Amino acid sequence: MSHSPPAVHVALSGGRSYAVHFEPLAATPMHLREAGVAGSRVLVVTDDTVGPLHLGTLTDALRASEWQVETVSVPAGEASKSLDQLSALYDWALGLGIDRGTPVLALGGGVVGDLAGFAAATLLRGLPLVHLPTTTISQVDSAIGGKTGINHATGKNLLGAFHQPLLVLADPATLDTLPDRAFRSGLAEAVKHALISDTDLAPRLARDWDALMAHDPAVLGPLVRDAAAVKAAVVEADELEAGERAFLNFGHTFGHALEREAGYGTLTHGEAVALGMRAALHLSASLRLDRVADDLGDFAEADRLVRRVAPAPPALDPATLTAAMATDKKRTASGLRFVVLDAVGVPRLADGVPPEMVEAAWRFALRDPDAAEAASPVA
Ligand code: NAD
Repeated sequence: MSHSPPAVHVALSGGRSYAVHFEPLAATPMHLREAGVAGSRVLVVTDDTVGPLHLGTLTDALRASEWQVETVSVPAGEASKSLDQLSALYDWALGLGIDRGTPVLALGGGVVGDLAGFAAATLLRGLPLVHLPTTTISQVDSAIGGKTGINHATGKNLLGAFHQPLLVLADPATLDTLPDRAFRSGLAEAVKHALISDTDLAPRLARDWDALMAHDPAVLGPLVRDAAAVKAAVVEADELEAGERAFLNFGHTFGHALEREAGYGTLTHGEAVALGMRAALHLSASLRLDRVADDLGDFAEADRLVRRVAPAPPALDPATLTAAMATDKKRTASGLRFVVLDAVGVPRLADGVPPEMVEAAWRFALRDPDAAEAASPVA
């Protein structure tokens, strides 16, 4: 008999809190009642890939528990984080005659979570939100923490709100239908959580990697749960990103630039973050030495873990990327801000980083490690 990993509890200021369960989707109705949801009707938002795979399991369970279920599906993919889709959700929900107690259930990856979450944040000044994440990224990261939003023509995630969920239920078994590329690259956020936290996640990820890739439930559920717990702890300490929550951006300043310059959709978000973490590790090594580093020193093992989720690097110019980073929204008055590591598990913010160190970090991350290994003489 398989056991679900224990829930993670996110405790926020003012006595607010919510649970993140790692259980089958069919347990949703039970947890809705436990979380204090009254009423008899729920709104479910999904996308047209996830719907055919997992919506039936959810709606069957809800209807068996006497919920009236209203469902809507948006096209799968990042393009749905748009004003048009948001507006269509408003029309749909308001046309149903909802009230402020009607919960919105977001069944899908980070796109559905961000879009439905923002709709829930703004409809009637806030409806209860339940995240039912179905991708590795959303289970270890985006469903926890309350960031919701959509994209604008001028950039990603520029319109949004903090709206904490009432409940999160992540069913690790839903990850079995995820394409391999999305499954693996989404684990970049789990690797990130391993590198910025003082936990045993990094050695466990390295040790159990093959079982994880095989979706072994004895390994997958507990690793997803513990990676999610890192996010929860950071959110608890800094709900509104005033300080330490910025550590979750490890690899992201580089990664966002890469996503933009490679063209959105070329790399997955996780792949861009993975290459971004390789650059951030190199920058960490340079800053520690106070000169451009020749190699990663004792960050080499962390880099081996990151490489498990990193794609072959795109052919981009390090100097162009260094210049392009100047437009990242995480800029501060003192120039570019990076999350770097003093050691694995010890992140810090670095401001005023010399551009030659940034460019050297790009050169390192954009060199294909497999090609480099093949070319080097065998010892
Ligand atoms: P996604 O929702 O687009 O999912 C990726 C693809 O997988 C989609 O085509 C989707 O239809 C499909 N899919 C989802 N679950 C599936 C399943 N179980 N089986 C088969 N296919 C499935 O994107 P994502 O990778 O989950 O997340 C990326 C998004 O999350 C980005 O928009 C990013 O900005 C956002 N994000 C938000 C936060 C936050 O804190 N709010 C954090 C990280 C990322």
